[in-house]
Amino acid sequence: MTQELGGFAALELHPSIVAAVVATGYEEPSAIQQQSIPIILAGHDMIGQAQTGTGKTAAFALPILHRIDPSKREPQALILAPTRELALQVATAFETYAKQMPGVTVVAVYGGAPMGPQLKAIRNGAQIVVATPGRLCDHLRRDEKVLTTVNHLVLDEADEMLKLGFMDDLEVIFKAMPETRQTVLFSATLPQSIRAIAERHLRDPKHVKIQTKTQTVTAIEQAHLLVHADQKTSAVLRLLEVEEFDALIAFVRTKQATLDLASALEAKGYKAAALNGDIAQNQRERVIDSLKDGRLDIVVATDVAARGLDVPRITHVFNVDMPYDPESYVHRIGRTGRAGREGRALLLVTPRERRMLQVIERVTGQKVAEVRLPNAQAVLDARIKKLTTSLAPLVGDAEATHGDLLDRLTADIGCSPRALAAALLRKATNAQALTLEAVEREQPLVPNSAPRERTGDRPERGERERRAPMPLGEGRARCRTALGARDGIAAKNLLGAILNEGGLAREAIGRIQVRDSFSLVELPEEGLERLLTKLKDTRVAGKQLKLRRYRED
Ligand code: ADP
Ligand code: MG
Repeated sequence: MTQELGGFAALELHPSIVAAVVATGYEEPSAIQQQSIPIILAGHDMIGQAQTGTGKTAAFALPILHRIDPSKREPQALILAPTRELALQVATAFETYAKQMPGVTVVAVYGGAPMGPQLKAIRNGAQIVVATPGRLCDHLRRDEKVLTTVNHLVLDEADEMLKLGFMDDLEVIFKAMPETRQTVLFSATLPQSIRAIAERHLRDPKHVKIQTKTQTVTAIEQAHLLVHADQKTSAVLRLLEVEEFDALIAFVRTKQATLDLASALEAKGYKAAALNGDIAQNQRERVIDSLKDGRLDIVVATDVAARGLDVPRITHVFNVDMPYDPESYVHRIGRTGRAGREGRALLLVTPRERRMLQVIERVTGQKVAEVRLPNAQAVLDARIKKLTTSLAPLVGDAEATHGDLLDRLTADIGCSPRALAAALLRKATNAQALTLEAVEREQPLVPNSAPRERTGDRPERGERERRAPMPLGEGRARCRTALGARDGIAAKNLLGAILNEGGLAREAIGRIQVRDSFSLVELPEEGLERLLTKLKDTRVAGKQLKLRRYRED
């Protein structure tokens, strides 16, 4: 009993809410709950900053349940969440906490499900609406009055919503709600964009910030990659395509290298800057501030220049050049994983530097696993994912506003809607490589399979293989398989398989080029289709060969 009075009961929440929370198994309110609940109960606007897993959902759900009127069958609280999954999670949490409050209903509103039932649930008197901004705006376009009774608004994971491009939708939603509403904003980070929203749409908000205790290097995932010194820039570019980073710091050894890498990154469209000992103190502070608030995403630094740099947004540390000693390695990777967050540290290792890697592993007592450079498929997947994320919010009601124009244009041009959409995509993506072949051909190309030690002549061969394919021999056709070095394939395996299964003479087979994620083989043009059919089920290194004719461009 005493425990109950001390725990959630002390927060003066409605007994049926406390009972449901206790039934859920929560004993004590978490820090963010302890501080937020009284503020929200008192009707204040609030900005809450805390890491994931600190219990933010109950921090707003409990006081909001307390403040709604279950006897009124109309939407009273709106929770906005960045994704469908998060919206569903929050809706489920509300249902759990409202278990002992008869008459309270919750509706989740998100894209990818029919709109009709969602709107019906709202109209049938759900008091709590949990929505993704995009879908909610679709509803507002059909019925601009759905939010007029909502007195409580929560923006959950506000930073994520902005990252997903929901800024405009949020503005539409704010306008559709009563100005007298209570607004509560939760975010793991408070970049300038979030502060600007708070400035415009919150009234005299109270701030709650929970510092996670573990400020140490708690969850840094470490890995290394083998590369040649002259492939470092292209390796970094490739890694950046697939790593999902927020902010990143890349360490190099020299001032010149900070400038070179920063400008290579800028040239590819990244918001990057150099930080080295030559940079004046005030300029250095500007760079760090920009990294903090998202005007910059990448800083290329020397060890000295990065000393004391503490930017919670940093999710990744790239050790582009090897640190001088294990201590500086530990310092470097400690730039990420701040505030108990997860971080990732990648170390590029040239063949000569392998010994240093071992020293680092010994001193830190941790194994730094080897990973391979992402292949073309991974880069392609990452690009398509980004494209999907950027295009999805644009669809909205475009068909309603521009559908007729599309009909007219396709009729005038005399092309299909698919052809026109494809043309617009090509334009919108600036003809970026978005097929596997195009990515594979693109510069900078993937360094070949990881360099081996003690093979002084190998890099040169690697270089040659990475250039455009050699001209084809007379009467030969080039064929391609998706098996490559990363599948453990060597030229001799391919040769053996084709000789055995295809019944060809050795001279009939031309050049074999094994690359990281695919291989090319020159075969006789004559009887090629028959040969490929024959090789249909051939397996190499346990995987299906699936050899196909390869068409350049
Ligand atoms: P956040 O939104 O901050 O990432 P959640 O609200 O999703 O965190 O909560 C994380 C987990 O902690 C959930 O499984 C939730 O049920 C649990 N939790 C929340 N508050 C408490 C509490 N006071 N005691 C025990 N567990 C809690
Ligand atoms: Mg949450």
